[in-house]
Amino acid sequence: MKQIQNYINGQLVAPVAGQHIDNYNPATGEVYSLIPDSDEQDVERAAQAAQAAFPAWSKTPAEKRGRILMHIADLIDQHLDCLAEAESVDNGKPLKLARTVDIPRASSNMRFYGTAIQHFASEAHYMEGTEAINYTVRHPHGVAGCISPWNLPLYLFTWKIAPALAAGNCVVAKPSEVTPMTAYLLSELCIEAGLPAGVLNIVHGYGHKVGAAIVAHSEVPVISFTGGTKTGRAIAATAAPMFKKLSLELGGKNPNIIFADCDFNNALHTSIHSSFANQGQICLCGSRIFIELPLYETFRDAFVEKVKALTVGDPLEEGTKQGAVVSEQHMQKVLSYIELAKQEGGTILTGGHQVQVEGRCTKGWFIAPTVIEGLPYNCRTNTEEIFGPVVTLTPFDTEEEVIQYANCTDYGLSATIWTHNLQRAHRVAHQVHSGIIWINTWLLRDLRTPFGGMRNSGVGREGGFEALRFFTEPQNVCVKL
Ligand code: NAD
Repeated sequence: MKQIQNYINGQLVAPVAGQHIDNYNPATGEVYSLIPDSDEQDVERAAQAAQAAFPAWSKTPAEKRGRILMHIADLIDQHLDCLAEAESVDNGKPLKLARTVDIPRASSNMRFYGTAIQHFASEAHYMEGTEAINYTVRHPHGVAGCISPWNLPLYLFTWKIAPALAAGNCVVAKPSEVTPMTAYLLSELCIEAGLPAGVLNIVHGYGHKVGAAIVAHSEVPVISFTGGTKTGRAIAATAAPMFKKLSLELGGKNPNIIFADCDFNNALHTSIHSSFANQGQICLCGSRIFIELPLYETFRDAFVEKVKALTVGDPLEEGTKQGAVVSEQHMQKVLSYIELAKQEGGTILTGGHQVQVEGRCTKGWFIAPTVIEGLPYNCRTNTEEIFGPVVTLTPFDTEEEVIQYANCTDYGLSATIWTHNLQRAHRVAHQVHSGIIWINTWLLRDLRTPFGGMRNSGVGREGGFEALRFFTEPQNVCVKL
């Protein structure tokens, strides 16, 4: 059975304590590899290696750092098929999705920041009258801690490490223990690309051991975290008294607002995707669909018909639209929310149950894509993050009403608005409390834009120069002329 290894100081190594965690294939329910059950000893070794590598890496010209990142991007592209299969097996997502979205985006992240750092400039402020000039130097922090979740494993892992490394930091990173495989394969590619030893260190294991040790480490002054809101709160509690710089990308409960004047086919087709892509396990999925009353029944009927046609099956098969959810524990959580929805008065229009897939996947963790109607807009099902293939449909009458519905959760990550009325689109966009708004589209991403959530969806922004600002410390130098 394949044993994943930590990547510390340029070497692939076993955890100090010699312990391992079972790694499951969600489509078969079987253990297929072993993950290092690392602890604070491994984090300490990684932090020391990163500290030792920092002086040379931070002085390496940005152009050369960028070239190494782009070499890693090229290697990711060359290994597309093997990485995509590994991601699908580890996570349960359809192979096609991994091949067309996850892995290409991982190489884009490396390439984007490998080039962005060469265009990243700082400001100068000339003081008229006083005859002085201020200029800003942006220093890398030293060792950055990067912690990522299981839903888009390599995609989100590289989204953090690429800007951190490009900016001249060394990194101690932890992928999710639920989906560690592609980060492990990436460490092999980093060695092949000639990334100097200690610049990137990947420590595998549980969040409460490895993640917590990274956050608490006195020599890791900056933490970039993507994951659940509850974990983000725990991280903030540890980091705040140490005055660490934090970027927190957390949960969401995103509204998908459909006005009656929308482009019906586009709204329908895209809403299927925004509801159920990756089994609804994308933080940006629109799990609350609000439909203007005159369109409600037409949209509902067409939507349910399309959802019924989504093929749930073996993620490795070409025709599969819905793969497995990531773990048995997560499946039980999603199913418990479906039960809650029934108790809260919801009607299940389709789905609502586990699916047993024939063949090699009979013991896998599959859920039928589920559509629920008839729930109050402010019930628990409609305000808590489910993070699975479950959406609710709710009619609305007025613009004011739907803005109130959209804003009634503690989250504020993303929202989608469907309308042909340009004025209304902007008006509603500006009133919905979300960090990211899509109008007449979904998940259209320009990597230069600020990415992140409001309220319980997070603190700070990633993407573009925002991430390079986050991973550097500005220092103002004032020169009297
Ligand atoms: P999680 O919070 O359980 O885990 C995320 C990571 O944190 C994992 O690597 C985990 O091992 C680690 N971790 C757990 N406890 C820790 C601790 N005490 N200290 C440090 N690290 C710890 O989240 P998850 O279940 O892996 O991911 C799903 C969540 O991620 C959802 O809420 C989803 O909305 C969110 N998410 C947000 C975004 C975004 O950009 N805002 C993107 C993807 C996922």
